[in-house]
Amino acid sequence: MCVFCKIVAGEIPSTKMYEDDEMIVIKDIEPKANKHYLCIPKEHFALLSEMDEKRAETVKHCLSKIPALQKELGLENGYRLVINQGEDAGQTVHHLHIHILGGEILPW
Ligand code: 5GP
Ligand code: ZN
Repeated sequence: MCVFCKIVAGEIPSTKMYEDDEMIVIKDIEPKANKHYLCIPKEHFALLSEMDEKRAETVKHCLSKIPALQKELGLENGYRLVINQGEDAGQTVHHLHIHILGGEILPW
């Protein structure tokens, strides 16, 4: 099982900000911005290129839920979403996840 599957299963502890049937939002263990969260679909798949209709629905769900959590996450002033895909992007966990970054003016 990958590290995010273990987090989803509760086998590795995490600071959970939100959970529903399809995804969780947790704090990143090594924050790269003042506020840094990870939105993780519960189903394991690594890349957007592995997306089928069900997975596309899950990604859509994540993208519509994140703005609904904006205030709760302390991101009233804005935020940045990042999805690393593969080696050149530096993807280290091969379970799709959306980085949510903010809480400060982010350098490009
Ligand atoms: P990637 O480089 O794959 O896009 O991002 C993986 C992210 O997962 C990194 O920002 C890293 O800090 C985070 N991460 C890795 N292992 C854990 C963990 O066990 N718990 C949490 N909360 N975050 C993790
Ligand atoms: Zn996984």
